[in-house]
Amino acid sequence: MTKIAIIGAGLAGLTAAHDLKEHASVTLYEKSRGVGGRLATRRAEPFSFDHGAQFFKARSKAFMDFIDPMIQDGTVQRWDARFAEIEGSTLVNSKQWGEAPPHYVGAPSMNAVGKYLGADLDIRFETRITSMQWSHDQWHLQDERGETLAPCDWVLSTLPAQQAFDLLPPTLPFRAALGSVQMRGCFSLMLGFRDALPIEFDAALVRERDISWISLNSSKPGRPEACSLLVHSTNLWADAHIEDDRDWVTDYLCDQTSEVIGYDVHSAQHKAVHGWRYANIGRQTGATHFLHADQRVGLCGDWLVQGRVEAAFKSGRALANSLKEII
Ligand SMILES: Cc1cc2nc3c(=O)[nH]c(=O)nc-3n(C[C@H](O)[C@H](O)[C@H](O)COP(=O)(O)OP(=O)(O)OC[C@H]3O[C@@H](n4cnc5c(N)ncnc54)[C@H](O)[C@@H]3O)c2cc1C
Repeated sequence: MTKIAIIGAGLAGLTAAHDLKEHASVTLYEKSRGVGGRLATRRAEPFSFDHGAQFFKARSKAFMDFIDPMIQDGTVQRWDARFAEIEGSTLVNSKQWGEAPPHYVGAPSMNAVGKYLGADLDIRFETRITSMQWSHDQWHLQDERGETLAPCDWVLSTLPAQQAFDLLPPTLPFRAALGSVQMRGCFSLMLGFRDALPIEFDAALVRERDISWISLNSSKPGRPEACSLLVHSTNLWADAHIEDDRDWVTDYLCDQTSEVIGYDVHSAQHKAVHGWRYANIGRQTGATHFLHADQRVGLCGDWLVQGRVEAAFKSGRALANSLKEII
């Protein structure tokens, strides 16, 4: 049976693995301890934070069909948030999210989606792939411990563009194009409070600030009750400060949040920040994936389409469909 190695167990990798598992022997290699990539959750008892993707929509029938079993068993649920738009510190608009269109989240946490999809897949965790060599008609991957992993016939990279550029061999014709793809950074500020906060929204889009989003994570379905606030910086601010001291970043983002909601969040019982160097990217117009049949390498990921959960699915599925035609 054809052996396929997929690098990265985010949604693009999980989708490709899911679609290919009946046609080949598939192994996923994931650098972190868990599955789901940027569909991420961090816990700090009694708090819980989805510090990557906040929610997702399903615009295409293909994606709706893909998530339907998860909706049926409660792994994906609707988040009917009280949604607000804030300019500076002024609430300029608010509405209740509902059926049209639904805003979906994993339940009881965003990473439940990855756990569901990864349940019957062969995933090697804490395995960061650092190089790949072609010899004896097969690919040989190496991890950061210097171990050479089981040889395979195909390698599919689902890494963000810059990381794929660093990993892929220079002989690949499409590698050069990856170097110029600009993904944007983002900081996620996680704040846990003893008591409920005096805010009148569950999710807010913020403009004219260095923060762009505030959500009450504890308002999402199935979350612990403890008041958990999740704040995103703007991409612009994150790109300018991605190397900065994390205590300073935390303090600054707390200042911004306090000004926006009119409540001093420095007093939070729990404070943490996570910096995403490759958080998202605007809408792309090129190919949804790359596949090189001679060198037996494929490439997918949200960055080929748009920085959205559904885009990662779209790219992963398109790559799997192309590969199925030739293996
Ligand atoms: C802060 C933030 C907010 C977002 N908000 C939303 C939102 O509200 N709605 C929405 O639709 N989308 C949102 N997104 C985007 C969405 O999360 C992504 O589009 C989607 O999850 C990307 O999936 P992917 O599989 O393409 O990439 P990833 O999820 O990044 O998967 C790549 C995987 O590869 C692994 N990896 C990397 N390097 C290696 C290596 N060398 N070896 C092995 N494994 C490796 C990573 O650990 C990761 O698990 C947000 C993203 C962020 C960061």
